[in-house]
Amino acid sequence: MGLDPASMEVILGVAALILCLLFFDSYRRSRAPYSGWWCLAIAFLLAGNMSYLLDGTMFQIWAGPSGNAFLVAGAFSVWAGSRSLRLLPTPAWQLWTAPAATALAAAVENPGTNIWAGGLVYLVLMSTGMGLAAIDLWRVKSSSSRTRISLALAAAGLGGFFFCRAVAYLLEGPGGIALRTYLSPATTSLVTLVLLVIASFSMVSLSNEQLIRALNERATRDSLTGLLNRQAFMDLAGRELTRISATEPVSTVILADLDHFKALNDSHGHAAGDAALQAFAGACRASVRRTGLAGRYGGEEFLILLPGAGPEYAKAVASDISRRMALAEPSEGIHYPTVSYGIAFSSPADSADLAGMIAAADDALYKAKSRGRNQAVCADTPMLETPSAS
Ligand code: GH3
Ligand code: MG
Ligand code: MG
Repeated sequence: MGLDPASMEVILGVAALILCLLFFDSYRRSRAPYSGWWCLAIAFLLAGNMSYLLDGTMFQIWAGPSGNAFLVAGAFSVWAGSRSLRLLPTPAWQLWTAPAATALAAAVENPGTNIWAGGLVYLVLMSTGMGLAAIDLWRVKSSSSRTRISLALAAAGLGGFFFCRAVAYLLEGPGGIALRTYLSPATTSLVTLVLLVIASFSMVSLSNEQLIRALNERATRDSLTGLLNRQAFMDLAGRELTRISATEPVSTVILADLDHFKALNDSHGHAAGDAALQAFAGACRASVRRTGLAGRYGGEEFLILLPGAGPEYAKAVASDISRRMALAEPSEGIHYPTVSYGIAFSSPADSADLAGMIAAADDALYKAKSRGRNQAVCADTPMLETPSAS
């Protein structure tokens, strides 16, 4: 049984119209760039498909070239959408050059009588657009690799299909057996329909994932400093301590407090205070790196967990943060505050007692403050050397 090309085009057109309306609604609500690009890509697919229905009529002379151009524009919109998932922009010229070249190639090959006018350029550019989309989709950083992979495979599948059609066109010409049977326009509509459904489903689940990740990020990060917020720090640090206590007997918590911070607010305003908190967070991120966790405990107090680290390493981290703070450059006439630290270690009896460690670090911090600030004190140990703050 042969597939009827016109019927297949109508079926694909109806499916594309419904998906286009659904994605437009989703784009209107979310304003997510990839929703917009996907909606545009389906609209181009719809327009291209409708143009092909005019083949064999008096309108074929313009409907053929514009149909090819619309479909190539659709493929390149899928590519732009894939790039937007990677937060990469796509310059406008990269989007219209391929469709313009497609239309031009068709226009110079008697499109009024030649149904395959510009066919090779169209097939090659369709394959290129979908291939580029597959590469960018593959590179999307996503926690769920299944969605990313199914999207990338759908794009690669369609790109590969068009590549095979281009090869068949080159080897046998448009009248060849391959382009009349398993690589025919009707088969193309069927393949496109299947991949359209897979890609649309994956697109929805990907957009949900990104939404959940963004909400999660907002729920766990302190908006001013970008460090973990108190709750997220407590959750993550608690879990990390439990995990590491099986292999590492000692871990360290540092409670850091900016010295005379209120004075900075009072003399230079809240914005200067905020900048100091951000500078501290930057210093903290750079010093703690990947091995530890850093979070804002509240106000100008911060918590750092160094899993598996002992006193020497903790002192070095505190000293490094103070050094970086001193090197940070505030606006003229402002000096960022020095920092006091209370350091506590996990007890051999209960190496996962986060609350106990924070309480001990708080006591040590109190001592650091009363001994003149700008220094680190270890819980239940004599005062440690002062971190170099200037
Ligand atoms: P000490 O050396 O004893 O720690 O004194 P301090 O002035 O640093 O501590 P104090 O607890 O007296 O003041 C903390 C101030 O931090 C009071 C509060 O207004 C300010 N603060 C808390 N959160 C923020 C914030 O997000 N931005 C700014 N700019 N200030 C904040
Ligand atoms: Mg304080
Ligand atoms: Mg303070």
